Amino acid sequence: MDYKTLDYLQELVRITAFADNSRPNIEKFLKTLREQFVFDNVAVYLYDESSQGLEVVYARAVGRAKSAEADAAWGETFAGQVLKSGRLLLQDPKPEAPPDDRLSQAYLLGLPLRSDALTKGALIFVRFGGPVYESEHITVASFAADLLSNLFERAAWRETNSELRELKRQMQLQEDFVSTISHELRTPLGFIKGYSTSLLRQDTSWDDETQKEFLTIIDEEADRLSLLIENVLESARLQSKTLPLRFQPLRLDSVLRDVIMRLRIRHKDLDVNMDLTPAPPIQGDGVRLAQVFENLFTNAIKYAPGAPIAILLNQVGENIIISFMDRGPGIPAESLPLIFERFYRVRSERTITGTGLGLYICRQIIKAHRGKIWAESTPGQGTTFFIELPINSSK
Ligand code: ADP
Repeated sequence: MDYKTLDYLQELVRITAFADNSRPNIEKFLKTLREQFVFDNVAVYLYDESSQGLEVVYARAVGRAKSAEADAAWGETFAGQVLKSGRLLLQDPKPEAPPDDRLSQAYLLGLPLRSDALTKGALIFVRFGGPVYESEHITVASFAADLLSNLFERAAWRETNSELRELKRQMQLQEDFVSTISHELRTPLGFIKGYSTSLLRQDTSWDDETQKEFLTIIDEEADRLSLLIENVLESARLQSKTLPLRFQPLRLDSVLRDVIMRLRIRHKDLDVNMDLTPAPPIQGDGVRLAQVFENLFTNAIKYAPGAPIAILLNQVGENIIISFMDRGPGIPAESLPLIFERFYRVRSERTITGTGLGLYICRQIIKAHRGKIWAESTPGQGTTFFIELPINSSK
């Protein structure tokens, strides 16, 4: 073998060695291949499990002018035969083909693309009007098919690998959730049990004020417990996508004002600054949207205690955008895309109670209104949640 051929083969290996299965990579590979192995058209087919058929992943007419789509069709039947046989196949022009029409004088070469000893696709070449494939051409083409097989196999492994990693992450979230929820359920139950046992003790008599204090704690903890259970059930319901919404014309500014009024009963020092430009009413579910706003407030109170909250409401085209800014500790950039996931909680030194369900529920409610919710944050300076709602969300 001469050095030129060796260089050529080495270049083919180099192109595929660490490359992924993107179109430019396949293109570069086949272009380089053609420097010594001549063909007019080429097509790469892979078997697709979901459609149970061959899919063209790449097709190119290099010689005779034809569109790539049309080219894919010429090789499909032949690729099917290669896939079925699992072997290299050659096909000469049909004897009845007119000898003076070069395009009907198709010499086909089909090579199986394998993975784990199974044929997963085919690499098909065509030469119009010959020449026939010599044995050394076939060796080079087989070598190319093996390199492509490796490329696709590696891509499949990469995909499986990232799916597994995602699965592992989900499992970790569920595991964390189970331990959080056990703690979250036990705490209010402990209070309820402790204070009611105290009140029932025969040997102690409590004055009216103390009794009232204990009963208030029991009442509040029972509320907390039922809210928690409601959230867990709700997130399960949302998972199965059954969120019934009752659409009605709503003014978002008044929904926001109501929520703030209710929150002020429990949090007297809530520092909210509102800038609500007059905007038309939207079609929405008032109870659900109030739930979203309440959740954002509760989070700001929990994660940015004492920090002021600023709310802006604006109409932008056919949408209303609400921004909800706190001057709290913020959220690290790597956690930002994850906070709307079910069970996700940012790990921190401080133990702040929560389940990782609140923002997930918010996102599902906003999605059901055909809107969007996202967050931006500068750690150390604060977090802003944005909600975009179409004015006519029930359309
Ligand atoms: P939970 O509050 O029950 O943990 P959420 O889904 O409401 O669950 O929030 C997910 C995570 O997002 C929280 O654990 C918290 O780390 C982070 N987070 C939410 N809101 C804020 C905020 N205003 N400031 C900083 N971190 C926040």
